[in-house]
Amino acid sequence: MAKRPLAEYRAKRDFSKSPEPAGESKPSRKKARRRFFCVQKHLASHLHYDFRLEHDGVLLSWAVPKGPSLNPAEKRLAMHVEDHPLDYGEFEGVIPEGYGAGIVMLWDKGTWEPEDPDVDAALERGDLKMRLDGYKLKGSWVLVRTRRDEGRSWLLIKHRDEWSSPELDILEFAPLSVKSEGDFADILAQDRPDIWISNRPARGGEAGALFRKVVERALALRQAREEGDGGKGRAKRR
Ligand code: MN
Repeated sequence: MAKRPLAEYRAKRDFSKSPEPAGESKPSRKKARRRFFCVQKHLASHLHYDFRLEHDGVLLSWAVPKGPSLNPAEKRLAMHVEDHPLDYGEFEGVIPEGYGAGIVMLWDKGTWEPEDPDVDAALERGDLKMRLDGYKLKGSWVLVRTRRDEGRSWLLIKHRDEWSSPELDILEFAPLSVKSEGDFADILAQDRPDIWISNRPARGGEAGALFRKVVERALALRQAREEGDGGKGRAKRR
C-alpha cells in the first residue's frame, strides 16, 4: 500500500477549479474506522438473506439462500450481487412490485472488520476473513469464492470461536427485525397489507406458502388494530 494513496490523484488536479473532492477529510488509513454491516431477510420470489459489508462507500452484497449459520460445519452458499448504496443498510419495508418485490426485514446490523486491511486484495483472492460485531452474528467469519457460476458463488462460513455453535439455529432462535422487532407480517401490516391479496411475488413452493401466511396475518393485524381504535381508521378511509 502506497504511503500517500491520494498523492497522484491530488497532483493532477487543482481543487480551486475542480468540484472534485480533494479527499482531505478522509484518513489515509481506515484502520480505526468502524465499517457497517447488515443482513436483510428478504421474502421475495424466494426467501433469502442479503449479507452486506461496507467497503469504499458502498455495500458489497451477497444473497444467502439458506441464511448464515453459526455452525462451522455448515458452508452457506452466498451469491455475489451488485453493490448497494450505504443508505440501503437501514432499509426495512415493502417493495410492492418490480425487482426484488416482497418484504425486507433488517435482520441484523453492526460493524465489521477485515482481518487483512487490504479488502480489495482479499476480494481478488476470493478469501475475505472478517470479524462481525452485530446483534446476532459475532466473531470470526469468512467468505470464500468457489469456482462455480463464473466466480459469483461464494461460501459464508463461521469460524470456530466463542460465538460459533454447532446446535443453535440463529435463524430460528432470533427471527425478528433488529429495527422494528417485528416479523414479516408486522412489517407488511405497517404498510399496505392488502397489496398482495392477489398477484403475490411468489405463489408456489415454500415462499408462496410463507407469503400466504404473512399476508393473512398482516390483514388480521390491521383489522384488529382498526377495531381496537373503534373502527376510526376504517371509517377515515371510506
Ligand atoms: Mn434480496
